[in-house]
Amino acid sequence: MPVEKFNLTLTKVIQETYDVKTFQFKPDKPVSFKAGQWLMLYLNTKNEKGGIKRDNRAYSIASSPTNTNLIDINFRVYSFGKFTPILYNLKEGNVVEARGPFGKFTYEPNEPKDLSFIAGGTGIAPIRGIIQYIKEAKLDVNMTLLFSCKTTEDIIFDNEFKELVKNKKFKYIPTITRINESKQKWDGETGRISKEIIKKYCNLKSLFYICGPPEMVDGSVKFLEELGVTKEKIKVEVYH
Ligand SMILES: Cc1cc2nc3c(=O)[nH]c(=O)nc-3n(C[C@H](O)[C@H](O)[C@H](O)COP(=O)(O)OP(=O)(O)OC[C@H]3O[C@@H](n4cnc5c(N)ncnc54)[C@H](O)[C@@H]3O)c2cc1C
Repeated sequence: MPVEKFNLTLTKVIQETYDVKTFQFKPDKPVSFKAGQWLMLYLNTKNEKGGIKRDNRAYSIASSPTNTNLIDINFRVYSFGKFTPILYNLKEGNVVEARGPFGKFTYEPNEPKDLSFIAGGTGIAPIRGIIQYIKEAKLDVNMTLLFSCKTTEDIIFDNEFKELVKNKKFKYIPTITRINESKQKWDGETGRISKEIIKKYCNLKSLFYICGPPEMVDGSVKFLEELGVTKEKIKVEVYH
């Protein structure tokens, strides 16, 4: 798909957790992309001397390509970050410059019928786009989602995924890594992504999609390889 430059108007802001928002944008022209791809967003930030700097960061598209007139992104604000504090404070009606789509962390036609997703934090974004696409296109695919979140307050899109579980083709396993810091009662899985949790829930013959911070992605790939999953059956997106 050709890389294009376009403007995105922020049409809806959804506060997902205490530090994560989903932005719904309307592009100024239809944007063709594959489920799972990302865009480069451009904003003015401050340089070391307090002057204005044109800056950019990558954000996965968290929505389905079935609607080329709507782009969702989902992101966490880092209070010491250069870009996200400015992004986080945008209001409905604001316009952001973008380029894309980019990336190979995509759902392709004729992909196997069994997919396993492993996400850490906002690494859920492109996976949510792929899941939405499979649902909207009514594809006959079995999906398992292992979702690693810090606390019970950090689970993004929880209601949406719980709703999908009613469809027997979707398995949803959130796991909480900091249960002691969690406020809600929790009787689900706890701990980081491990060989054991992968073996317990995932079909090892499925195609794996892994997205999140580098340690989580590298660790998961290592576990999968130890479990006999070959590199060709693993797609990764790393949030550096
Ligand atoms: C292909 C790709 C797709 C991406 N998609 C998304 C997405 O959909 N949603 C999303 O939220 N992010 C995504 N990212 C990460 C995003 O591009 C930014 O790096 C992130 O939003 C931080 O930007 P910042 O300017 O606020 O922080 P920076 O100014 O770049 O970093 C400043 C400080 O913030 C903290 N920090 C920044 N990033 C992280 C992190 N990931 N984990 C822990 N601490 C961190 C660190 O303390 C760091 O020193 C993606 C990255 C890539 C490469």
